[in-house]
Amino acid sequence: MKDITEIIETTLKNLEKNNTISTPMNFEKEFYSILKKTDLILEEYVEHDDIIDSLSNDEKRFFEKNDLSTFRDLAKILSNRITESEIKKFLKDFSYFISPSINNEIKNEINEVSCQIANEPNHLINNETIRNLRKLTARRIKSDKALFNEKTADVKKLILFLGDHFKKTLKQNCITIEEIVDIKNDINSLELSNSSKDDLNNLQNKLINVMERFEKTIELNREDIISRQTQNDYLYEQIEELQCSLNKAEEEKSIDYLTGVLTRRAYNIELDRVEEHFRIFDSNYAIIFYDLDHFKKINDNYGHDCGDSILATFASILNKLTRTEDIISRYGGEEFISLVHYSNKLEIENYLKRVKNIITNNRFVYGDVKINVEFCAGVSFRENYSSYSEAVKKADSLLYQAKNEGRNKIVLDTNLVF
Ligand code: GH3
Ligand code: MG
Ligand code: MG
Repeated sequence: MKDITEIIETTLKNLEKNNTISTPMNFEKEFYSILKKTDLILEEYVEHDDIIDSLSNDEKRFFEKNDLSTFRDLAKILSNRITESEIKKFLKDFSYFISPSINNEIKNEINEVSCQIANEPNHLINNETIRNLRKLTARRIKSDKALFNEKTADVKKLILFLGDHFKKTLKQNCITIEEIVDIKNDINSLELSNSSKDDLNNLQNKLINVMERFEKTIELNREDIISRQTQNDYLYEQIEELQCSLNKAEEEKSIDYLTGVLTRRAYNIELDRVEEHFRIFDSNYAIIFYDLDHFKKINDNYGHDCGDSILATFASILNKLTRTEDIISRYGGEEFISLVHYSNKLEIENYLKRVKNIITNNRFVYGDVKINVEFCAGVSFRENYSSYSEAVKKADSLLYQAKNEGRNKIVLDTNLVF
């Protein structure tokens, strides 16, 4: 085929042969398919090919896949393209997407690329533009990372700092004004990176403010604290004094103030313990009642104080001769009682002899007078009775017997008399 008329004729024939209506569109399609197979170069066809060349790869693929060929097909594809105003609108958001969150050092470059694309939207898919955008995005990611690290380091610094100080404060359980000032200065001298200046500096200043308020409150309360401390010291002293008095009173309840031996009250408590041991462990003991002879006369002759001194000396002698596991108590007036353990009754006899020897062979000294003191004792062995009360009654009656038999005597329920 050499000329266009021939192509037109063949086109019409083909359409007729294929039972295709010769609409402009069907004609154009068939016309181009025949033209392609000829050497004829039509200006219109060159233009058509140029447009196809300028299509994007996707557009080209779509064009071929759907067996498109006409200008009308091309028009359809091109009309699907994004408009310039849409691109400009997109560019605004686009520059926002790739700008770093805080650091704005690549802002100008981003604007430059955006302007280029806005002026020539085709540049958006141009390789160089894409390379540039890649580079800018990489810089944006790097800058965001660096910023994130700086901020993390600053926050870490502040948290470590606060942690250290609060730990110290908790350990010491108190905080002085000097320490507050130190903390304030430390916070002040914490070096934060430039990127944290806006937000963390704010926090830093708030901390300094808190410390300043703390400092003022402590200053205001200092005198109050000191006066409270003095009051507390005074109260503490008073409490200690009261505690001492209480201890003393407690002791006094169990120790006779004059003789230093157990009171009757304390004796009863000890007796329960001794009786329990007697019942459980068969630990034998003797009950010894002492009563000073003619003590009234001593008082009358040498005075009540002298009588007191003799009572104290008598008790201390008994105390010295009695083992700690045994009991010695002032039963009343010039009467004493002791509970002395034994395994053999002979031990008790020897004990009584020792007491008698010391009391009667020595003279009690009071000022420049020396006084002979004698006493009586009634002794019962607990094992000989069914109850303590029977045994103590017996000891009491033996004491009475000793008095009646002339005094200066010790009478035992074994009929022994010293
Ligand atoms: P007896 O030989 O019969 O025991 O005669 P006594 O004088 O010792 O006995 P009496 O019961 O007649 O008198 C006891 C005296 O002991 C009377 C009392 O004033 C005196 N007395 C009691 N308690 C104390 C005391 O704590 N201090 C002094 N100094 N005397 C006391
Ligand atoms: Mg008496
Ligand atoms: Mg007496």
